[in-house]
Amino acid sequence: MNILENIKVVLVEPIFGGNIGSVCRAMNNNGITDLAIVKPRPTTNWDEAYKLACNAKAQLDARQEFQTLEEALADCTVVGATSARTGFYRDTAHSPREFAPIALESAADHKVALVFGREDKGLTNEELAQATHIIQIPSSELYTSLNLAQAVMVCCYELFVASGTFQPSEEKADEAPSELRERMFATWREMMLKTEFTHEQKLEHMMMGLRRIFSRGKLTVPDVKILMGLAKQSIWVSNQWNKTKGPHE
Ligand code: SAH
Repeated sequence: MNILENIKVVLVEPIFGGNIGSVCRAMNNNGITDLAIVKPRPTTNWDEAYKLACNAKAQLDARQEFQTLEEALADCTVVGATSARTGFYRDTAHSPREFAPIALESAADHKVALVFGREDKGLTNEELAQATHIIQIPSSELYTSLNLAQAVMVCCYELFVASGTFQPSEEKADEAPSELRERMFATWREMMLKTEFTHEQKLEHMMMGLRRIFSRGKLTVPDVKILMGLAKQSIWVSNQWNKTKGPHE
């Protein structure tokens, strides 16, 4: 089972349909699929919700609705409630990054909840009291409160990254071994002389420079082959030139 299936996002009385749709999208971007809405409002603009859910419309259809937060949280062990206000909980609040490993440990075999409040008033103290952890997203004093869907994005993202689910694409080409690199340097050496780019006296200095440049990043086998091909072609052109024009001073 995918550990992220055990993460439940709970929205308490969300006001804007657009935010609910954006929440669905943010959840799916991070592999999270369990959405609960507590006390959905009859005034919710569902057209707006579907519009902003984009390719996460199925997620919106799959939402569960509850009349109380207690019911929505009934099957959850760890409950992280999010709040922009520190005040009371300043000493105990966790950042989403700190909370992620705590949540994932429980999510291995239990449901875990992330609770988000109303756009205008956040969560009440009674609602916050039902949480095992308070989560505060670090933000500037200039404006501490995030948009609801963006707050969901930050929290889900941290869980997703911590879950190790994502495999970044890697360089597929093999790294060049020393033997191939040295053959390339020898060809460049010859090329620099043949093209009269440098004289014998300066050659070693130039070679040191080249080695420094080419060791700043990883050189793959195809990289080295291109560099070697370039030098070989330059040698060939120099030879042709010398044949027709004779060596120049
Ligand atoms: N004016 C409200 C803000 C609500 S923002 C208040 O003062 O609480 C809507 C929801 O987004 C919040 O209830 C919370 O769940 C989440 N949120 C917004 N900013 C946050 C932050 N900095 N840290 C944690 N959660 C945040």
